[in-house]
Parts: sequence; structure tokens; C-alpha cells
Amino acid sequence: MLSAQSDATDKIKNEGLQHSGVMNFAFHLTDASGPRLTNSPGFFRAANWAKDELTKMGLTNVSLEPWGDFGQGWEQNRCYLAVTAPYYFPVVAIPRAWTGGTPGKKMINEEVMIIRAKDSAELYQNYAGKIKGKIVMIYSGDTLKPSFEPDGNRFSDEALEKMANSKPDTARRPQNNLNADQMNAARQRQALQRQMGEFYKKEQPALVLSMSRAGNDGTLFVQGGGTYTKDAENNYAYVMVSSDDYLRIQRLVLDGQKVKMEAEVKTTFYPSDLKGYNVVGEIPGTDPALKDEWVIVGGHLDSWQGATGATDNAAGCSVMMEAMRIIKASGLQPKRSIRICLWSGEEQGLLGSRGYVKNHFADPADMILKPDHGKVSAYYNLDNGTGKIRGIYLQGNKEAGPIFSQWLEPFHELGAKTVTIDNTGGTDHQAFDAVGIPGFQFIQDEIEYDTRTHHTNMDTYDHLVPADLMQASTIIASFVYNTAQREEKIPRKALPKPRGTVNRGF
Ligand SMILES: [Zn+2]
Repeated sequence: MLSAQSDATDKIKNEGLQHSGVMNFAFHLTDASGPRLTNSPGFFRAANWAKDELTKMGLTNVSLEPWGDFGQGWEQNRCYLAVTAPYYFPVVAIPRAWTGGTPGKKMINEEVMIIRAKDSAELYQNYAGKIKGKIVMIYSGDTLKPSFEPDGNRFSDEALEKMANSKPDTARRPQNNLNADQMNAARQRQALQRQMGEFYKKEQPALVLSMSRAGNDGTLFVQGGGTYTKDAENNYAYVMVSSDDYLRIQRLVLDGQKVKMEAEVKTTFYPSDLKGYNVVGEIPGTDPALKDEWVIVGGHLDSWQGATGATDNAAGCSVMMEAMRIIKASGLQPKRSIRICLWSGEEQGLLGSRGYVKNHFADPADMILKPDHGKVSAYYNLDNGTGKIRGIYLQGNKEAGPIFSQWLEPFHELGAKTVTIDNTGGTDHQAFDAVGIPGFQFIQDEIEYDTRTHHTNMDTYDHLVPADLMQASTIIASFVYNTAQREEKIPRKALPKPRGTVNRGF
């Protein structure tokens, strides 16, 4: 048994490290497909390409499987902004998702106004009736700072050791733990944002400029700005401007100079099919007693619109497609079936994976289990950027620890050895974990994820690290194969209690 396992590992390593197809997959999902906002034309280019490719690989039951209602697709068709007075300079800007275009058929050329209001009363008092047809920007108190830290990072041995030594009772989600004051401030900001949105709809500026978190060097963080529900109306033009350009324009306006800008923004909404789709396919199992059970792997195919979503999450999808290719090409015959799911709607709240889990396994609201709930051994996810695998988060599943530790042994030489009891959040494994199906996300080196690529206009193919993606594909192929061959399924945690219909976020 052990020698059969190491023979399979050798085959997988050889295929994954010497004959990798992962960067070819990544090219097709990024450069060739374009941005993959859920239900956009780019998303369907990628989804249909992936479907054909998985079919060519020899997978069965490959399809775009609807998971439920999503809403409208959207894409940008034109975005040009430049300051024309006091002198000419081009401006880096990208439309926020699900927002509209500038009025009329021609380019607009208007004065830029700064809006500075601490609440909606001040907003209406000072600006009602004054911004129609204008280009407006909200005052920003941010400043840019030189960066003395490197953009790219890998886990240090100390950091990994600390994770390995986490205890079950201290295991916690490492991110997004806001205190009460921060929560309040965030709520107030959101409320003011909503009121601003209402104000713009009523007052009809020609274009609204915004600046997100201060990103240096032309990097802009850009996500949504409008709504995608079926009755969403075509909104006002609303773009994210690079911080460097935004603050420069702001200083000129505050100095009292007449700043004029020409701009043309055009976008399209796609209301004809409101359903959301995941790409699914499988390698059928070969063991009569186990082939009705599954190992599932996934990443999310949808991205934001600012670039081509290379690290978020073409990387994960390419790795999972490559893991399937490696298993097929190695001639291995998995006992359990292996299913790949490339999710959509992840960026809007893990919608595709949650829909899938609800349709096939259980709804966390009532925890009434469907028959297939018991047939999944494990779900593996990759969605923390391009970085290689350093280990795996157990998500509190203590009994899986020794199994994964053993499976990582052949990969210590490739830098992967850490097994931590910790939870990690924000990715699709949570949809499975929420109904008691073992769901795991791997520990990945950060590389430039938070500093440079995550949800930015810099999330492009060139920010992928080929050697890291090859390493990840190889390790995942091995994990998946071992899971398919293991006599027992991966041990499960206690079933969660029904959540009720209250949305507790993720
Ligand atoms: Zn994301």
C-alpha cells in the first residue's frame, strides 16, 4: 500500500513538475478571456473555454451548472479620462462594476468639483442643485507614503512554526476582527455612501470620481459601485481613479484652479440571463464500492473588472484544472470520483459555492441533509493568490491533521509541511465547512497579494509565479489522489447546528 502510494506520488511529481500545463491554462483564463466579472461576457468566455478544455482532457459530465439566481452581467466598453486644464495629463481610471456611463454620445468636458460633507444633511445643504452635469470627487484626507517594505513576501520559518503550534482552543480566523468602534465607523461610512448614492441619482452629475484605499504607483483597488439585481437601473458613471492622479487633481482644485477634465465612459448591463453558473466536471471513480463517493476541488472563476483576475483567482482555477490533468496524464485510476468546480459569484459572497452546496448537500439554515451529503470525502480550495503551498489549514478538524501531515511528507523538499488547526476565511471552502463537509484551504505564500494584486488593476498574468503554481498543482493532485484512494473518508467535525435564516456573513 505504502509503495503503491509513493509510486503514484512519483508519477504525479514527474507530470506536475516536468510537463506542467498550468501556465497555459492561466493564459486562457486571463489574457484570452479578459476580466471575468460574474455573468459578464468575459466570464462566459472563460467558462466555455474551461468546459471545452476539461472535456478534451477526458472528464465526464462537464457543464455550466446553474446554482441559483444571481443577476445581471456587466462590462466596461470604454473608459477615457484626462485633465485638460490647467494643462493636459491622462488619468488612470477604471469604472466600478455595475455602474453607468457618461451622458450623451460625445466626450464630456467639464469642471471638476470637490464634495466635502461629513453627513447627508451637509451634503444636501451645500451641494443640492449644484452638481448636475459636473464631474465630482469626494474630498480625500489620504496621503501616499513611500514604501520601505517589499511588495512580495513568503512565510518565514518562524511564522509557519507558530501556525503549526496553534492550539484548537486558540484557533481563530486570523483576519477581519474589527472591534465595536471600528464596526460602528464602518457602518457610518456605509450609511453615508448609500446616502451619497441616492444624492447622485437625484442630482445627476456627469461623472463621479472615487479613490479607494491608497494604492501607490498607479495601482488602484476597484470593485463594485452599483447593484446587479434584475431590477437594477443603469446607474450614473462612477469610476475609480488611481490615488496618484486623484490627489494631484484634488490639490489643484483646492488651490482654487479651474480644473477641467474630458471623459467618456461606456458600460453595458446584461439582463437576459439572470441565473448564476459554475463550471463542473469529473473523473469517474473506478472502485465499485467507492465510485459513488467524491473528492471535490475548486477555485473561483469569477473576478473583478480592473484587470484579468490572475491571482484572484485564475491561479486557483488553473491549478485545479492542472491537478485534474496531472491525474489523467499519469494514468492513475482513482477509486473515488474526483469532481472539479469552478465557482462564480465568489466575489459577491461565495454565492456559487453556497448555491452548489445548498442544491447538492444541505442548506446551513436548516441542516436537513440530502443523500449526497454523506458521499463527499473532502473539498480542497485554492484562493490565496499565486503563492506556493506551505501547508494546510485544518479548519478546526483535528483528526485530519495526522493524515495531512503524512501526505505532505514527500513535499517537504518543495517547502510544504505545515499543518495548522487554524481556520482561514474568505474562500469557498467555507461553503462546505458550513454544512459539516470537510473543506480546506491551503496555506500559501502571500507574494504580492495584499500589497499589489488582490482586487486591483495589476492582477495580471505577469504577476503569476510559474514555479509556485506548478508546485501547488502537484501537491493538490497528490492530496486529491490520496483522498480518492483512502479506505475511509476524511474524518468529519461534529455537524453544525442549523443557522436559521439570519445571514452571519463569512
Ligand atoms: Zn477576490
